[in-house]
Amino acid sequence: MKELKKIKYWLFDLDNTLYSGETKVFDQVDKKMSSFISKKLNVDIKEARIIQKNYFHKYNTTLNGMLKNHNIDAEEFLEFVHDVNLDFLEKDLKLKNEIAKLNGKKFIFTNGSRSHANNVIKKIGIENLFDGIFDITDSNYVPKPLMDPYNKIIKKYGLEPEYCIFIEDIARNLEPAFKLGMKTVWIKNNEPWAAEQSDSSFVHYQTENLSKFLGDINELK
Ligand SMILES: [Mg+2]
Repeated sequence: MKELKKIKYWLFDLDNTLYSGETKVFDQVDKKMSSFISKKLNVDIKEARIIQKNYFHKYNTTLNGMLKNHNIDAEEFLEFVHDVNLDFLEKDLKLKNEIAKLNGKKFIFTNGSRSHANNVIKKIGIENLFDGIFDITDSNYVPKPLMDPYNKIIKKYGLEPEYCIFIEDIARNLEPAFKLGMKTVWIKNNEPWAAEQSDSSFVHYQTENLSKFLGDINELK
């Protein structure tokens, strides 16, 4: 773990990384996507779900599949699906303290929208700690784990990949980061599709508790 002392750039995924997947925030987003598809394509919810999951697996995000196959407005989609209840997200003081203590620049790197990211970090009390939010609009709706957004975030913020660490709950999204020379951390979870490939060599570290993991790094001498 000592090698992590040299990290200068901290890249965090948002959903199910900066807050626990057990909060069910992302479940709501998931349901709103089904409902968006049902309305737009005029199909029942059951069929909408099948389409949604097919697109997610084939195109890495449901949005990407909808854009490739239907004439929809990306901003309308993002606004609709992120309009969820965040009331049960609680302030996370420990996470706030540990992120604040990290040396270097901190970024959020998400397949979601900037406004959703801002709503979430405000709710858990870690706003003002980040040097930037790179969202799905910044990547022209091309999602992780396609290589393009990784190259774009590096370019946008002038990152040096060998001094970057990327922290994420969907294991396969770590592979491009690894290929670019970044360190990778998988947030352990029981979602089968998120855990897929988590035993690969492109996962350097894994943790069940992000605050504790960052705390351990902050304590390195
Ligand atoms: Mg995530």
